Amino acid sequence: MAALRSSAIRDLLAVTARPDVIGLAGGLPDPDLVPLDRIRAATVRALESADSLQYTETAGLLALREVIARRESALRPRPVTTAEVAVTHGSQQALSLLAQVLVDPGATVVVEEPAYPGALQVLRATQARIMTVPLDADGMRTDRIADLLAAGERPVLVHTVSTFHNPRGVTMSASRRRELTTLAERFGFLVVEDDPYGELHYAGPPPEPIAAHSDRVIRLSSVSKTLAPALRVGWMVAPREICAAVELAKQGADLCDSRLAQETVTELLADEQWMTGHLQDLRAEYGRRADALRRAVEREFGDCATLSRIGGGMFGWLEFQDGTDTDALLSAALDHSVAFVPGSAFAVDGQDRAGARLCFTTNTPARLDDAVGRLAAAHSR
Ligand code: PMP
Repeated sequence: MAALRSSAIRDLLAVTARPDVIGLAGGLPDPDLVPLDRIRAATVRALESADSLQYTETAGLLALREVIARRESALRPRPVTTAEVAVTHGSQQALSLLAQVLVDPGATVVVEEPAYPGALQVLRATQARIMTVPLDADGMRTDRIADLLAAGERPVLVHTVSTFHNPRGVTMSASRRRELTTLAERFGFLVVEDDPYGELHYAGPPPEPIAAHSDRVIRLSSVSKTLAPALRVGWMVAPREICAAVELAKQGADLCDSRLAQETVTELLADEQWMTGHLQDLRAEYGRRADALRRAVEREFGDCATLSRIGGGMFGWLEFQDGTDTDALLSAALDHSVAFVPGSAFAVDGQDRAGARLCFTTNTPARLDDAVGRLAAAHSR
C-alpha cells in the first residue's frame, strides 16, 4: 500500500462536481448522448425473468462472450473463440486481474510516459519495476523499447493505449504496431493493448489493432465510452490460458459481474444495425466538439500553446510553450470555474508541468468555447 497514491483525476472529479464548473477533466460520455431509452428497454426486457438477477459464469455470460467474439473477429485475420474472451467489471478490472496473474513483485513492465493512471495504480500495487517509454505523434516509441531490450531489460509486459491515447490523444502507427509485435515475439513479452476509445474515430478508422498481428497481445475494451460507464462491462481477448488464469483470479475478486448489466449489453451489442447507427451519431457529435475545442484553443492561445491533432477518443492534449505550469494553472482555472487535468497526473515520475488534458465530449461546442475562454482568462491572470 505504501507505493499507492490516490488517482489525481478521481480526486479532481470530486472537486469539480460544483454545478458552476465547466468540466474538461473527466473522460466520460455526455449523459445526453447515453442511449438511455435503449438501455432502459433492454434492462426491462432482461428483468422479465428473475434469471437476470442470479449469479452467472465468472468468465461472463456466454451470449455476451459470443457477441464480443463476433465483433472482435471482424478486427483480425483469425476468428476469436469464446474461450479467448473474458468479461470483466470494466476494462479497469481486466488490467487489475492481469497484473495479479502476470506480474510478480519486482518484475519489469513497460508503460508509456505520460501514462494512463489506472494502469499505473494496478502495476504499482503488484510492486512491479515500472519503466517508461515516451510517445510522439505516432504513438509509443517502439525504438525505445528496442533500446531497453538491447540493454538487457526483460519486461514481462508492455502496456499501451495504442489508439486515441489517454491522455495524449495520439495513435500508434501501423508500422510501430508491427514493430511492437515483432519485438514481443522475439523477446517473449506480452502486450496489453488497452483500447476503450478505438470506436470513437472522427477522421477515419484507426489502423488494425495490434492484436491483429500476434497472439502475444491481450486486447482490452469496454462499453464505458460508447454506451455507459455504469454498466461496468469490459472485456479482454487473450490466449485461452490467460483467460483461464484471469477467471481464477476473478473468482476470488468478485465471483462474477452483474448478470443484469451483461444481458442488457448483450442485447445492445447484438443489435448491429442499432449499434452502428449509435456509433455514427457519437462520432458525428463528438467530432463537432473536437473541432470546436480546436477553434477555441487557436483563437484564445495562438502561439502560447498547441493542441494535439484529435483523430478520435475524448481528449485533446494542450501543451504550453510559454513556461506555464499547469498545476498552478489548475488552481487559477478553478477560480474561473473551469477544470482540466494537469499533465503531472499522468507523469510516472511526476515531472510534466507543461501539458494539460482537455476532455471535449461532455460539453456542447458553445460550452467548450466558454470553457476555453475561461481557461485563457485564468492563464493571463
Ligand atoms: N483504459 C483506459 C486507457 C481508460 O482511459 C479507461 C477509463 N478511463 C479504462 C481503461 C477503464 O475503463 P472502464 O473500466 O470503465 O472500462
